[in-house]
Amino acid sequence: MTYTERFMVRPDESLSLADWDPRQNDGMRKKDGRQLLYDMRDELNDLQELLYASQKYALLILLQGMDTSGKDGVIKRVVNAFNPQGCEVTSFKVPTEEELAHDFLWRVHRRVPRRGMVGIHNRSHYEDVLVVRVESLFPARVWRPRYEMINHFEELLAHSGVVMLKFFLHISPEEQKERLERRLANSHSHWKFRLSDLRARSKWDKYMHAYEEALSRCSSEHAPWFVIPADRKWYRNLVVSNILLEKLRSLDMEWPTLEPGVDPDMEII
Ligand code: AMP
Ligand code: MG
Repeated sequence: MTYTERFMVRPDESLSLADWDPRQNDGMRKKDGRQLLYDMRDELNDLQELLYASQKYALLILLQGMDTSGKDGVIKRVVNAFNPQGCEVTSFKVPTEEELAHDFLWRVHRRVPRRGMVGIHNRSHYEDVLVVRVESLFPARVWRPRYEMINHFEELLAHSGVVMLKFFLHISPEEQKERLERRLANSHSHWKFRLSDLRARSKWDKYMHAYEEALSRCSSEHAPWFVIPADRKWYRNLVVSNILLEKLRSLDMEWPTLEPGVDPDMEII
């Protein structure tokens, strides 16, 4: 079974996160997992170059998860196999006044990568059915219709050559507690600690419920959601890397040929 098959949320599956173990590691040792990750780097890099050269597809990697679940870690440890010239990372924060004056997809659509590029969205339009819902930032009549709108939006992107992979980094509340405590204990991590993280933590079940609905209703063949076991950082990285690799390998891409009039046997003087 491929990693893609194992961790993908089936379209129309009614997902229960309680069925997904955040501590999963296949009984593998950290050292071996890290080696496997390392061994994948060159192929990931080559395939990204092919994506760039062939200009047929864009790749959009979307990262969601509770605070400390490792969204930044995936960018640091997985995405860094790619050439930075071909990548654009966007972190979506509390919307600005200008962003709020537009429809909720506006700021996201502008940051969707062009063909040839890899876009990484650290948080995304899903915040508009997650934090917005749980914190009641807008009434239900505003966020309820958004699942459908998101599905249409993602269909539009797929039609335009955007290959999307959506990762939910699934950590346990116990693991989050440890990570937050570590942030408090280390002065170099204090900048990452926000009181709002504790507010979100206190509503853990509500967030999980909101995630379940988003993942159940918005996972499709062309824009699948994956539930990534994220209590162990190295295993999380290994699974995300494998899914990226499997997707890139499956794409029908070809190296561009020489421009007309150039003979490959010509002598370079
Ligand atoms: P961080 O990812 O830790 O830098 O925090 C970003 C914060 O922005 C998180 O608390 C998100 O919940 C919040 N955020 C992102 N998108 C939205 C949105 N559409 N509406 C409200 N808050 C958002
Ligand atoms: Mg944070």
